Amino acid sequence: MAFQAPRGTTDLLPPQAHALDRIQRIACSVFGLYGYGLIETPAFEQLDVFVRGIGQDTDVVGKEMFHVLSPGALAKQAEGAPLRPDDVLALRPEQTASVARAAVQHGLVPPDGATVKLWYRGTMFRAERPQKGRLREFHQVGAECLGAAGPSADAEAVVMLMHFFEECGIPRGALRLLLNSMGDAACRPAYRSQVRAFILDHAADLCPECVRRADTNPLRAFDCKNEGCRQVLADAPRITDLLCDDCAAHYASVKALLDAARVPYEEDPRLVRGLDYYTRTVFEVQADAGLGSQNALGGGGRYDGLIQEFGGRPTPGLGFAVGLERVQLVLEATGNAPDARPVPAAYLAAVDEDARPVVFALAQELRAAGLAAELDHQGRSLKSQFKQADRSGAPVVLVVGPDERAAGAARMRHMGTHEERTVALDAVVDAVKGECTATQEGDQDR
Ligand code: AMP
Repeated sequence: MAFQAPRGTTDLLPPQAHALDRIQRIACSVFGLYGYGLIETPAFEQLDVFVRGIGQDTDVVGKEMFHVLSPGALAKQAEGAPLRPDDVLALRPEQTASVARAAVQHGLVPPDGATVKLWYRGTMFRAERPQKGRLREFHQVGAECLGAAGPSADAEAVVMLMHFFEECGIPRGALRLLLNSMGDAACRPAYRSQVRAFILDHAADLCPECVRRADTNPLRAFDCKNEGCRQVLADAPRITDLLCDDCAAHYASVKALLDAARVPYEEDPRLVRGLDYYTRTVFEVQADAGLGSQNALGGGGRYDGLIQEFGGRPTPGLGFAVGLERVQLVLEATGNAPDARPVPAAYLAAVDEDARPVVFALAQELRAAGLAAELDHQGRSLKSQFKQADRSGAPVVLVVGPDERAAGAARMRHMGTHEERTVALDAVVDAVKGECTATQEGDQDR
């Protein structure tokens, strides 16, 4: 049988790969406005990095990790010899734990309390059941802000996330920004006990998984997709009624800052997010168009204990991650996905063999001036070169034949209007630039 890409993975072919690349570039430019620098960490880490950073009892760590064994580790396993922690690796299911590990390893958070802002882009791996918008290998961009305790850091991250979606071209009306506070070490334990008691009181009406969670991680029951469970849990205690004074003040400030920045949000006291490390502010952006049940485009929150988990000094932090495939699905479903196909500025056609070196050199001149140029490499007839030009979407075709060679010129044909004019070879770059500007202006007017 012919080989196929593994289940839940995709080969990103040119238009789709360009579309995701476009979103990554937008992340780079928007996050740069807020002072974030790019960090790249390995695609795999010691398994314990994720166990420590995300939590053993999360779905991500408990059920969805791809484990990696080095050849040395496989040999040890075959011999029954004990494995060391760095023998047992896992593909990253998310990048916050990796960034926290790297921040501690490299002492990125200075002792003077300065803030470090890092953003990342890359593929993540989760062994989930594939469906629309849910892959086993998918792309994220994300941002982590380390060292800032104040509520304006939370609000700034949320504003930046919404700014990013806006620059991607998703209409604000297609998005729902949900906000909650999960409390902290002072108030969450009491809340957890109340939710646990609630689950046990309603065990008969809840699914076995929710009941099991009463003892392991009761707040995760709020993530259950089962409609019956959701209805029962709608009456569960609300964290926002139990926040300690500090958490309540922090949450109120975040909301006031979002109001001041005119960023609309909905408070959702059931929003707990899947990972264990969150404290205080959590947020999620959802969209209905194009996503079906996997409606979360991105989300994150504050994680004031995470850096300490990795052996660093107590350091507040917060961040978010966005799934790029889902952003693209929403752009397509709302009719806002720009044509990501690379289009040459000019196609160069040779009338005869003697013209081929001329168009070859001309193409190079255009490219050196930053203009994409395409030409035939198959010895095709002029007619099929024009067909290729049409297919490429190039706004102009430059034709060189015996007359043009004699005159040191090219014939420039505008593919939209079919107008033609002769352009001296040393004026071709400027003429093509002029056509590109005219085409762009025409596109903007439409
Ligand atoms: P999370 O780390 O689970 O909060 O995920 C952050 C974002 O990554 C989500 O909102 C999704 O957009 C995206 N995401 C998470 N899991 C998947 C997946 N299996 N396939 C595609 N995108 C995903």
